[in-house]
Amino acid sequence: MDKKNLLIVGAGGVARVATFKGAQSGEFKKIVLASRTKSKCDEIARDVKEKLGVEIETAQLDANRKENVVEIIKKYQIDIVSNLALPYQNLPIMHGCIETGTDYLDTALAETEDNPDTYYDLQWALDEEFKKAGAMALLGCGFDPGVTSIMVKYAGEYLLDELEEVDIYDCNFGEHGRPFATNFDPEINLRELNLPGKYWENGEWKVTKPFEIQVKHNYPECGEATSILIWHEELESIVKHFPNLKRARFFMCFSDRYLYHFNALKNVGMFSIEPIEVCPGCKISPLQFLAKVLPDPQELVKNYTGVTNIGVIARGYKNGKRKSYYLYNICDHQKAIGETGAHCVSYTTGVPANIGVKLMARGVWYKPGVHNVEEFDPKPFFEEMERDGLPINIVEIE
Ligand code: NDP
Repeated sequence: MDKKNLLIVGAGGVARVATFKGAQSGEFKKIVLASRTKSKCDEIARDVKEKLGVEIETAQLDANRKENVVEIIKKYQIDIVSNLALPYQNLPIMHGCIETGTDYLDTALAETEDNPDTYYDLQWALDEEFKKAGAMALLGCGFDPGVTSIMVKYAGEYLLDELEEVDIYDCNFGEHGRPFATNFDPEINLRELNLPGKYWENGEWKVTKPFEIQVKHNYPECGEATSILIWHEELESIVKHFPNLKRARFFMCFSDRYLYHFNALKNVGMFSIEPIEVCPGCKISPLQFLAKVLPDPQELVKNYTGVTNIGVIARGYKNGKRKSYYLYNICDHQKAIGETGAHCVSYTTGVPANIGVKLMARGVWYKPGVHNVEEFDPKPFFEEMERDGLPINIVEIE
């Protein structure tokens, strides 16, 4: 099979990891890294060249402009676009792929700047257009969303006859030495955490106040941590693709120090996305301002230690008996930084994104139209995770 040309969009931590992994794999004829700030692409390309001896081409791209996306795709004869910019760019990049018949992958649900409470409908609505263009879009192929949905699929396909309940648990046990910081784009991250909690139970969505449901959860190999029920986008696609599920929930852990700062900033109104006039003719939302004040997520790599632990507890029946399984991955920040220069929050997203484009390029996961990761066989994906440094542990629990 002919090797394909890959375009990676964005030059943050996730794009850095995916570029390293794409270069390491040797599976692409050409990798082009294009983003808003070209110098950041050049920096990643230089690091890849120094460490792996692989040449990465770079380009300036404003991915909010479909015409610019089309121009870059044509110029570099791109076969697959890995969209690792911000969720605001998903739709223009998808439309650029439709126009050129190019395959597409992303790791986060499309958002618009004025509304963080978005759903898959805008992207699922492009299914027919992708089919007509003879191209495929793979949505949400990071860790969560991404690997967590693949874990649910694995449990439903290979561990249980009837899958009844899934709980996703995500905890970063890492320490970066800063009083308060976000591990990826602060604006995207804080908008997500500020939404009401939501989970699926007995055929309907139940809504909670933000941070209303808190549990103490024991993370395997790491210990107990307070974990809060939040709405997370993969719940929507999991419930669609596993319609018999009785319950689906997502929990994320937060330290007391994080919650102290989070609550103070929230209480003074710093999470508002409504632009306010801060000087004559100069409008900015408090959240955009805060995002500029907080540390750049990439800066955190200097001192990051500890691990992340993300997994799924799947409960149901096997041969008529009630069974529960915990599928999880542990990622070590120092190991990820040593290999790619990015911490685990980027590593656990960039590695699956690169596996997604590899499986698409090989035709192993390939179907024209718009798809979520849980529509495909999880086994080849898990095999690649093992090879690419993020092995999945599976244990039976009480
Ligand atoms: P960063 O904020 O570090 O990087 C985003 C990059 O996108 C930046 O380089 C930025 O450019 C670039 N960008 C922004 N606007 C444009 C534009 N108009 N045109 C071209 N490039 C643009 O984010 P991360 O690397 O941490 O995250 C990348 C993506 O991964 C996000 O969508 C995030 O939501 C998602 N994610 C998914 C996870 C998962 O598990 N599924 C977990 C973590 C993140 P500039 O450098 O100029 O600012």
